[in-house]
Amino acid sequence: MRIGCPKEIKNHEYRVGLTPESVKELTVNGHDVWMETGAGMGIGATDDAYRNAGAEIKDGPDALFAECEMIVKVKEPQAVERAKLRRDQILYTYLHLAPDPEQTADLVKSGVTAIAYETVTGEGGSLPLLKPMSQVAGRMSIQAGATALEKAHGGRGVLLGGVPGVMPGKVVVIGGGVVGFNAAQMAVGLGGQVTIMDRDPEVLDKVGTFFENRASTRFSNKANLEEAVFEADLVIGAVLIPGAAAPKLITRDMLKQMKPGAVLVDVAIDQGGCFETSHATTHADPTYVVDDIVHYCVANMPGAVARTSTYALNNVTLPHALRIARMGWKDAMRANPHLAEGLNVHGGKVAYEAVAKELGYDF
Ligand code: NAD
Repeated sequence: MRIGCPKEIKNHEYRVGLTPESVKELTVNGHDVWMETGAGMGIGATDDAYRNAGAEIKDGPDALFAECEMIVKVKEPQAVERAKLRRDQILYTYLHLAPDPEQTADLVKSGVTAIAYETVTGEGGSLPLLKPMSQVAGRMSIQAGATALEKAHGGRGVLLGGVPGVMPGKVVVIGGGVVGFNAAQMAVGLGGQVTIMDRDPEVLDKVGTFFENRASTRFSNKANLEEAVFEADLVIGAVLIPGAAAPKLITRDMLKQMKPGAVLVDVAIDQGGCFETSHATTHADPTYVVDDIVHYCVANMPGAVARTSTYALNNVTLPHALRIARMGWKDAMRANPHLAEGLNVHGGKVAYEAVAKELGYDF
């Protein structure tokens, strides 16, 4: 199969659909890969690195969209890209169609077969192509929070690990899922005093067993949350209620009882945020202060570590890409029902029930 990987054109997107290592896997398996020149610049991968992996380098995206059977990307196609998609072509990328009627209409009109990373499933209903970005965001949340705790960034001047003779910082992680687990790992690693809060007893059991006495676990209800948050130097918001907006677990009133200069990192901001005073920020201007509490609410945290994020993403997207390239998308989906869950648009129709329902298409 001939596979094309264009340069991402969405604002501030530095990731790329294929690493040179992934290209090599595809080319040694007999596939042709066309890379747009400069596609890997954001992760420090040169055209030569891709050439050495067996890719052909093309000036601009047009030849890729015109002649490749599968387009591999990271972000949803932008309007100019959507205009180039065509019937009998596979698009394999993040799409997030439900809140995006314009994109959905364009994909339907193009006739393209669009496979969305975010709806490909794994064992037990997990979403393995989303997981690495939650792992990245969870780990980054502690780095971001530790920096915001510095005086120059508005924080209360606390070093998370403390030093011999001085107590460490107190970190409260609300939500012990993928983001929360990874945040707790980093906070424990830095020597912080960590409490993980969740309302699912199985999650508490799992993180409790993993961290043993290196972190405390606590059931998440209003009284326990208040007590923990009022004592905290750093709070990580890592909750998710699938299909719903994040619950507002820290209200504006509660900020007044927190320690001045404490930091809130709202990783759940992409679902509306779990603190009442959260609003989305950017990497260029990531923090703001409300009632002496520093807020960090960047909605696309993994974008800041494009290289790590790209490699983490390729680890989970490449096996399916290889399968699709070898078998064609229909047989690959017949052989792997988890991949079949990724089909969102095909042959001028919406092929994913939740998207069809949300946007009023026949299913
Ligand atoms: P997850 O499903 O693995 O974990 C969420 C956890 O929240 C679950 O364990 C659940 O029991 C818990 N929870 C739900 N309600 C709670 C409550 N009231 N109190 C305490 N815990 C509660 O989800 P995840 O992958 O860890 O993602 C968490 C959030 O981070 C999501 O909103 C996700 O979209 C977001 N995210 C943001 C970025 C970013 O760049 N900002 C990147 C990746 C993920």
